Amino acid sequence: MKRILVLGIIVSLGCLTLVLSAFQAPSPAALSAAKIEKVKDNLYIITGSGASDMNTFSGGTSAVFITDSGVVLVDTKLPGLGPTLMDRIKSVTNKPVTTIINTHTHSDHVGSNEFFGANVETIVQENTKADMAKMDEFKGDKAKFLPKRTYKDKLTLGKGKDEVDLFYFGPGHTNGDTFVIFPALRTMHAGDMFAWKAIPYVDTGNGGSITGHAATLAKVVNTVKNVDTIINGHLPTTTWNELKEYADFTKDFVDWAANEMKAGKTADQAAAEYKLPAKYKGYVVTVNEQFANVKGNVQTIYNELKK
Ligand SMILES: [Zn+2]
Repeated sequence: MKRILVLGIIVSLGCLTLVLSAFQAPSPAALSAAKIEKVKDNLYIITGSGASDMNTFSGGTSAVFITDSGVVLVDTKLPGLGPTLMDRIKSVTNKPVTTIINTHTHSDHVGSNEFFGANVETIVQENTKADMAKMDEFKGDKAKFLPKRTYKDKLTLGKGKDEVDLFYFGPGHTNGDTFVIFPALRTMHAGDMFAWKAIPYVDTGNGGSITGHAATLAKVVNTVKNVDTIINGHLPTTTWNELKEYADFTKDFVDWAANEMKAGKTADQAAAEYKLPAKYKGYVVTVNEQFANVKGNVQTIYNELKK
């Protein structure tokens, strides 16, 4: 019971690799919670779940983009979800999965890559490949499942209605977060750079940065054009305006912490005084005590600003 509880708390972030090695098999509830839903035309999502019911947690939101030459799958959820992903994909197309894109290195986004085999073209930002190489899932014999194709700042696949653009805008949740844009459908998968409406989780062990998170989202908002729909790391979908609001939320948080530091407050004093601005009503400020909370993020901001 205790182990399940601890696992639940940690998985609630959907982000931690080390505990996921204790992960055995997804619960039947998690499998049935992974539902395929149409976003637009030839683009679907396979849902994950919220943090409220850990028994149904299957990992991040996957995107299924059906092109003339095959299926582009974005993110593969936790280990053990491969057959379920394939079952959901087969319910909308007979085409094979030809390409996998992972938005970042976390187990709940890359966990079932192996299921699709070493011959599917898998693409990640170059820092993410280095991060993945450190994971048990890709060590030794399993190194053959590491992505073979990487990019640095931008990569375009296909064209016309089948075009997919991959962008890296800088560090945030990790040091290799890809934004995946389907231009013909005005839709972007933001991965865990916008996982849900909550205080960000930054994985400093994989090069994540909280000041970088705010700066990177600001860059996305100012650079990306012609997108109206966002697929989120753990929410199903939101609008472009909700992404803009989330970018403002993260920037306001970093600015507030920087001012507290300037005023001579310790990180603990500042965190104790944080009040969620009224305009962000409903945002979660403590996802859990260990990883995504005001105190931890303020300390990280202080550490980054002192450098
Ligand atoms: Zn993550």
